[in-house]
Amino acid sequence: MKILLVEDDALLGSSLQSVLEEHRHVVEWVDRCGAARAALETSAYQLVILDLGLPDGDGRDVIRWMRRGGHQQPVLVLSARGEIRDRVAALDLGADDYLTKPFDLEELLARVRATGRRPHGVLSSRIVVGDVEIDLAACRVWRAGEIVSLRPREFQILATLVERRNRVVSRGDLEELMSTREQSVESNTVEVFVHHLRKKLGAGLIETVRGTGYVVRID
Ligand code: CA
Repeated sequence: MKILLVEDDALLGSSLQSVLEEHRHVVEWVDRCGAARAALETSAYQLVILDLGLPDGDGRDVIRWMRRGGHQQPVLVLSARGEIRDRVAALDLGADDYLTKPFDLEELLARVRATGRRPHGVLSSRIVVGDVEIDLAACRVWRAGEIVSLRPREFQILATLVERRNRVVSRGDLEELMSTREQSVESNTVEVFVHHLRKKLGAGLIETVRGTGYVVRID
């Protein structure tokens, strides 16, 4: 999944980013409400992990702003405020889940997986293409029954092509999905990742549509 992480605690933010990336998510990390809104305006995310106490405002205003503006991504709130009324208030505003600090990383990962399984998140089911099996929610891939280790951006490309199966996805769209605010994508990067994916998963999975982009065909 491509995840927007909004957290102003530098230590927590960087450790969450690395743990989520180890689990093959693409993470963009910002530490202000304003930066979160700017990121949501310019990029497509499948999940927002949101701290409430932020230096330039309250994370709840970000949820309000998202829901008013039609940003439907699931929101997982991380907060030191563990009172029932705080949880209820955040959920009423449109948050999907709430985790009180301090929390266990395993629990966070389980909640992230659960959010991904919900209907308005990413597709939930396992998808089989030839001898390749992809679990979009769990971010896992198998080939001939053996688990295949993919880097976050490799998984992101594969997941996007599978989610939009039988439609050509342009190279530009894939670049946009892969880029973060700190890191733009070189023009040949998508091709390099597709090359790696073909080496790991077989040449037939991802088809090149010359001059346009890529497609994964599933009957
Ligand atoms: Ca904070």
